[in-house]
Amino acid sequence: MKKQFKAESQRLLDLMINSIYTNKEIFLREIISNASDAIDKMCYLALTDKSVGMSRSDFGITLTLDKENRTLTVSDNGIGMNEEELERNLGTIAFSGSREFSSELEKSGFDVKKSAGADDDASAADAADSSAAGSAENEASPIDIIGQFGVGFYSAFMVSDRVEVVTRRYGEDKAWRWVSEGAGGYDIEPAERDEQGTDVIMHIREDGEESDEYSQYLREYTIYGLVKKYSDYIRFPIRMLMPHSKVKEGSDPEKPEYEEVYEYEVINSMVPLWQRRKSEVTDEEYENFYRQSFFDDKAPLETMTVSVEGMVSYDALMFIPEKAPERYYSDEYTGGLRLYSSGVLIMDKCKELLPDYFNFVKGIVDSPDLSLNISRELLQHDRQLRLISKNLEKKIRGRLEDMMKNDREKYEKFYNSFGRQLKYCALDNYGRYREELQDFLMFYSSTEKKLVTLAEYVERMKEDQEYIYYASGESLDAVDKMPQTEILKDKGIEILYFTDSADSFISDIFREYKEKKFMSVIDGDFDVDGKKDEEVTELFKETFEFIKETLGDKVDEVKATAKLKSHPVCLSSGEGLTFEMEKYFKAVNPDLGMKAKRILELNADHPAFLALEKARTEDVERAKKMCEVLFNQALLIAGLPIDDPSGYTDTVTSLF
Ligand code: ADP
Repeated sequence: MKKQFKAESQRLLDLMINSIYTNKEIFLREIISNASDAIDKMCYLALTDKSVGMSRSDFGITLTLDKENRTLTVSDNGIGMNEEELERNLGTIAFSGSREFSSELEKSGFDVKKSAGADDDASAADAADSSAAGSAENEASPIDIIGQFGVGFYSAFMVSDRVEVVTRRYGEDKAWRWVSEGAGGYDIEPAERDEQGTDVIMHIREDGEESDEYSQYLREYTIYGLVKKYSDYIRFPIRMLMPHSKVKEGSDPEKPEYEEVYEYEVINSMVPLWQRRKSEVTDEEYENFYRQSFFDDKAPLETMTVSVEGMVSYDALMFIPEKAPERYYSDEYTGGLRLYSSGVLIMDKCKELLPDYFNFVKGIVDSPDLSLNISRELLQHDRQLRLISKNLEKKIRGRLEDMMKNDREKYEKFYNSFGRQLKYCALDNYGRYREELQDFLMFYSSTEKKLVTLAEYVERMKEDQEYIYYASGESLDAVDKMPQTEILKDKGIEILYFTDSADSFISDIFREYKEKKFMSVIDGDFDVDGKKDEEVTELFKETFEFIKETLGDKVDEVKATAKLKSHPVCLSSGEGLTFEMEKYFKAVNPDLGMKAKRILELNADHPAFLALEKARTEDVERAKKMCEVLFNQALLIAGLPIDDPSGYTDTVTSLF
């Protein structure tokens, strides 16, 4: 009985069958890459378990062309699949990029669901065309998207009208055959195979009416070219019978006769990219490798190579992505580098190779000095590994510093994607990695109107400036409008805008940078024109006491401030919890009841203050209302909720 594909598999399969993608030739890369992965697993087994009785040189991939029957077969002696694995892996969409692929496809406006079960070939293609045309210029069309992700096994259906998979799992006697014509499900039945491994037999389609010349995939030189183009660095030999012209045996040496003989030839050079000299690898090769290996639709922002010979020898190839992956800032994300020992894959994501704060770096490390038997637990303590990781960190650090200095635009791009990670890690554990990371952080500057580093700020500080001034708020605009920033701005003093929820912890955890303390513009006690705030408070003592009495528990203190210019009031929190922290904790856990102090500060030069002064002696009720209004204003400006908004508006209107 025919089995049906899982719904979402069928959808993607339909896309493949309907072949909206013009770059069909990538199917070979996908099938060969699967074969190589399967050999990786088998090879690892063979090297760690001597009873397997095979060595690395026994492994390989063979391509077979049968022009008469129009088949192209990719065979490997990898780990193979049993019945259950066949069912699970090929009956369900499983390719690693699939989730991202579907979501990108939907984002681009392509209706995956609509194309599902499209009976006539045209509808999927139409849907794709119209959405491609309709999408914004810089948005990728579904057609591009397919090429950017590893599309996996199903891509075989772009060039085949029938695909057979004959496979036998290592350690099992039975072999199985999976057959499908794409639409309408698949069959699995018992089969024969001499040893472990897999044959993917692709029945190549008849040539289409227009440009679809499928027969090319039955020609040796096309296949040869595709292997060179896409799979050259596969680390196991890819063999194919290639035609060679040879002098016919017994023919006259003076007048040689030639004949075409077929001989097996290894077509890929097998040298992995990271073992080739950097000068011999093109940017395009690095980019292709990155995209294919790490499923990114963008070229890497930065490519780094390391080659070390010494106590521990290794090669590393690392990339900094341009954009953070979708789930980067969630628990689901696991970083790490792919770890090889002399070209044998040990582990897909070795976390220990990178410090947490650089966990956005993608890449591979290959060292002949690592034992294959390295286990997860051992890894953590492995000295060689630690040595490598230290060097890699140095390399990444150096590259980032270089970027910051010499290509600021690129660094900003980087910072937009991964700055938050650096900041969080700098603050984590009470600033355990603060020293390592503080110079990579950037904040918006009131004077430069762009992101600046702490070093740049301190460098520019005025001679008598004691503090690094910062202002916290929800957005650049909100901070910019804060009354407390006015006087500093007037004096030309630079203010850093802290707009990220994590920023409010910086002054607390860093305390100072290059011996300059952080000072919030809210808390600052600015000695303007030599008049001390305490003196002014003393001068209008009665008024301040009146305000405090009127507002009662709502405020902790009421005093004069010189840091306001055109505004009458502001709120500060003194030492301890800041308003930004209060908001943060409230968002995380409202029940905690964490509250910052509320210190009401008034501008004694402001007409509003003078009016209040006057009312206090002439009309006490009116003066009380004014206190209420000023306090609520201060709350609003600080971005804090007011207790009774409608009461507040009533009070305001009653003053008219
Ligand atoms: P991906 O390779 O991205 O996981 P594919 O759709 O290409 O997705 O393949 C699905 C799964 O089928 C693979 O993960 C693998 O488990 C299995 N598979 C495919 N080809 C082979 C093969 N030649 N040998 C063993 N297993 C294979």
